[in-house]
Amino acid sequence: MTDKDTDETKLIKKAASSILKDDIKQLQLIPPVALKLLTLTNDDNARIDNLSRIIETEPMLAAKILKQVNSAVYALPNKITSTNRAVTILGFSVVRQLALNLLLYNNLKRQNASQLFDLLFFWQHCLYVASLSKRIAVALNYPDPDLVYTGGLLHDIGKIVLETHGRVTYSDFIASIGNNQQSTLEEERNFFGITHTEMGHVFCLEWQLPASIAAIVAFHHNQPTETSPHAQFNTAIAIVSFADYIAWIQGIGSAVQRNSHPSLQSAVLETIDLDQLNIEALLQQVDQDMQSTQEFYNIRLPGLTTLRATLVKTTINLSQINEDNALVTAPKLSSCLTAPHHSLNPDDFIPRTLEAIQNEFSFDRSIMFTIAPKHRSLIALYGWPESILPTKQSAFEININSLSGLLLTCLREKKAVIINTEIEPDNPIIQHLKTTEFIAVPVAHHNKLLGVLYADNSLSKKPMSEQLLPEIQPIAYELGIAIFNAKQYHLEKKNAQIDHLTQLFNKRMINKFLTAVFQEDESTLANLAIGFIDIDKFKLFNDSCGHQAGDDALKIVADILRSLTRPGDFIGRYGGEEFLFVLRNTNKTGAYGYAERLRSAIEHRGKIMSQRFQGHNLTVSIGISLYSRRYADYTDMIETADQAMYRAKNEGRNRIVILPGGDNQLQQLEK
Ligand code: GH3
Ligand code: MG
Ligand code: MG
Repeated sequence: MTDKDTDETKLIKKAASSILKDDIKQLQLIPPVALKLLTLTNDDNARIDNLSRIIETEPMLAAKILKQVNSAVYALPNKITSTNRAVTILGFSVVRQLALNLLLYNNLKRQNASQLFDLLFFWQHCLYVASLSKRIAVALNYPDPDLVYTGGLLHDIGKIVLETHGRVTYSDFIASIGNNQQSTLEEERNFFGITHTEMGHVFCLEWQLPASIAAIVAFHHNQPTETSPHAQFNTAIAIVSFADYIAWIQGIGSAVQRNSHPSLQSAVLETIDLDQLNIEALLQQVDQDMQSTQEFYNIRLPGLTTLRATLVKTTINLSQINEDNALVTAPKLSSCLTAPHHSLNPDDFIPRTLEAIQNEFSFDRSIMFTIAPKHRSLIALYGWPESILPTKQSAFEININSLSGLLLTCLREKKAVIINTEIEPDNPIIQHLKTTEFIAVPVAHHNKLLGVLYADNSLSKKPMSEQLLPEIQPIAYELGIAIFNAKQYHLEKKNAQIDHLTQLFNKRMINKFLTAVFQEDESTLANLAIGFIDIDKFKLFNDSCGHQAGDDALKIVADILRSLTRPGDFIGRYGGEEFLFVLRNTNKTGAYGYAERLRSAIEHRGKIMSQRFQGHNLTVSIGISLYSRRYADYTDMIETADQAMYRAKNEGRNRIVILPGGDNQLQQLEK
């Protein structure tokens, strides 16, 4: 321990040393050569020389690199024999990455780990997260993709420390938690007295890894707050966190244990802009990266599909043991089980799964009914072949309240059933889909019904056998997880765009919207107005009426804004008690008219609520700027609206000031 350690660091260091068998400084988890590579930075002037010198100290590594550069891929006329030349040709970043992977992998192989914590598995996860992180960094124009790559490789190092040197190991931990749903970090703390992120952090500190990597290791499950000294690495942390999440939900986690994968933190989504990412394309690139990594090292990692399947199988076996369903035979591992985890978009993975089901079981038709919670109905949104369903607009929909018989049992008890005309001649699905028999398997997650998987042999009339049920159930189970994950993902993505109190778009979305608007052509911009709305004397209001009443007032203002704003226009909460609107296709009179409607509606509502607000007025001052060519970008226009708003304050509040852009002459329209 050093004097500089904060109390918190001292505490986690203490927890670390009491759970470890050996002194953390003695753990040879990262070979010395790799440590040197980690501290080589991109902006180091002599980086190529330094890198080649480091590589030359490790003959196995040098040989690999030379072999690669002399391989057919590069088709060089002469054989390259110097590491320095090889680094120049392959590039610093590539070579450093190859070297790190190889060193860490060889070292990992030497560690003892038990069955439950499979080191290959773990390594695959780390490589996957590293590669995806780097791809994301490039897509987002993040300046240091190599950093997130190494951060991704090492993010879970705390797990290795615990597994290989803990008095109780990570395998013991996995065995102890079984199918528990609680957050893993909390469980880890209960079990070890320390989480894997804290353990990793201690390791990084003791081994003096770069602060950026230590921050990724320490915070990939909890984004640091803006005032934290680690906040400077927020983007890198968020990228690795996101890649970690994606890896887990695809079944490429760091341990054979899937029920408690990390959640997607909203702070991560606030830091990185997911709309800039084409997730499907990234996942494909990473699959390719993984392929070439294996070829280069001649490592036999389980293929991604196999890996996804293995995880799927483990979960199924676990779930079946838990359900005490000893009769169920282990499912055949097929693409049906992994298809649901190929993306986060139901429009992509549901049809893909139906197709896989067709390939495997050769039903005549299969359909995925999803639940529309508001209507309490089942809707046939996806079908195979696609032609069996009409368009989404006129989709086949069944009211759940109208159901009876076996189908109701299927939904209520989450039980797969076979229904035919003999038992239920009036069944609405039999009637509508003109079949004599079908199979219905509930799709659920955490005991919540998400849909029903349907299949029939309406043409061939091949009978449905009871034996099919246990074969289809695991697929429905995977679909349940995938649909839940996709919903969660989209919900969190939306949360990151919305201000929780007022449900208006937040500042990040305001900036994003305006950036897009300012890319439109001059003629559209010409009719643009931006307005700032600031509540008058709101501090006083809060002080005398209380924070709760203050929050209510903010919600009221937001509701009024919503009700008076046209669909094509835009409103958001800019911060504290400031709102912003953007009007298109407007002019000075139009903008003023709109602002005046807002102003008077808010004042009016304040009067109605005056008793609750202890006699305080609820009024706003509004500043508007109209577009002018002189605005280089939207921030100038916001700035002018802000100035106009301050004028309105100075002139007595509860009023509107418009500044025609560029024209320095203030024009105030009397209200
Ligand atoms: P002015 O008329 O000059 O705008 O005066 P003001 O008091 O409105 O301006 P000031 O910026 O001094 O104070 C803004 C206050 O808004 C301070 C803060 O207590 C309050 N506020 C900001 N955000 C929230 C919030 O989310 N909830 C509540 N209840 N109050 C908030
Ligand atoms: Mg991880
Ligand atoms: Mg104010």
